[in-house]
Amino acid sequence: MLKIAIYGKGGIGKSTTSSNISAALSEMGLRVMQIGCDPKADSTTNLCAGKPVNTVLNMLREKGDEIALADIVKEGYNGVLCVEAGGPTPGIGCAGRGIITAFDKLEELGAYEIYQPDVVLYDVLGDVVCGGFAMPIRGGYAEHVFVVSSGEKMAIYAAANIALAIKNFKGRGYAKMQGIILNARNVANEIELVNELAQEIETKVTRVLPRSASVQEAEEKGQTVIEALPDSEMADEYRALVKQIMEVCEYVPESLCLK
Ligand code: ADP
Ligand code: SF4
Ligand code: MG
Repeated sequence: MLKIAIYGKGGIGKSTTSSNISAALSEMGLRVMQIGCDPKADSTTNLCAGKPVNTVLNMLREKGDEIALADIVKEGYNGVLCVEAGGPTPGIGCAGRGIITAFDKLEELGAYEIYQPDVVLYDVLGDVVCGGFAMPIRGGYAEHVFVVSSGEKMAIYAAANIALAIKNFKGRGYAKMQGIILNARNVANEIELVNELAQEIETKVTRVLPRSASVQEAEEKGQTVIEALPDSEMADEYRALVKQIMEVCEYVPESLCLK
C-alpha cells in the first residue's frame, strides 16, 4: 500500500491537487482512499459531484458507537473512497485530536482490510504543524510526504515548517519528504524561489503544475479536471504528476502486477 500525505498552506491547492491525483490513480485501475485532514472538510467534494461528505467527527457526535463504515466512507468518482476527518466545534477542542480520532475509528472499523486500498492519500492542512496536524507523518500513517507550494512567501514559509517537522522525526521510521509540488500562482521568479526552498530543505521539485482555467471550469461542475476535462492539458499534467510521484516513491502497484 502506498501511503502519501499532501501538506501545504491553506488555499494553496492541496485538495484540488489531491483529488486529481486520486482520480488519475483510479483511471489506472487502482483503489484509492483520500482522507481529508482539514477542518474545512472539502478535500473530496470534487470527487463526489460537488457534494460534501459527512465528516467522521460529525458522524461520531451523531451516532456514537453506532457509527458504521458506510457513514464515513463515500464512494466517489471511479470508486475513489472519500473520507473527511472534520473539525471541532469552532472555539472548542483540537483539530489535531479530531484527526487522531478519525484515524482510530477507520482502523477500528476495519476500513483498510475491508476496502484494501492500493493507495491512501492524506490531504493535510499545513499552516500549523503542531502535534495534531503532524499526526499523519507519525505513527506509520503516511510514508511519503509531498508539499504543495507556490512562490508566495506564506506558502514557502509553511512548506519549510513542514520540512522541519519531518526532519525532527527523521530516523524514527516516520514519513519521508519526497518533494515539492509547485502549484503556480505566477508570482515573480516563482520557479527560482521554489527551487531555492527545495535546496534549503534538501528535496526536489517533483513537478511544476501551471495555473489553469480548467481547474475552475471543473470545480464549477463539482468535479476534478480528470473527470470534467479528461482530454485537457491540465488533466495530462495531473497524470504526469502521478507518474512522477510513483517513481519517486518507487511504487509498483501489486494489483496491477497480477493483472
Ligand atoms: P487547499 O486545499 O490547499 O486549501 P484548494 O485545493 O481548495 O486549496 O484550492 C484553492 C483554490 O485554488 C480552489 O478554488 C482552486 O480552484 C484553485 N486552484 C488550485 N490549483 C489551481 C491551479 N493549478 N490552477 C488554477 N486554480 C487552482
Ligand atoms: Fe490541536 Fe494543533 Fe490546534 Fe493545538 S494547534 S489545538 S494541537 S490542532
Ligand atoms: Mg483543502
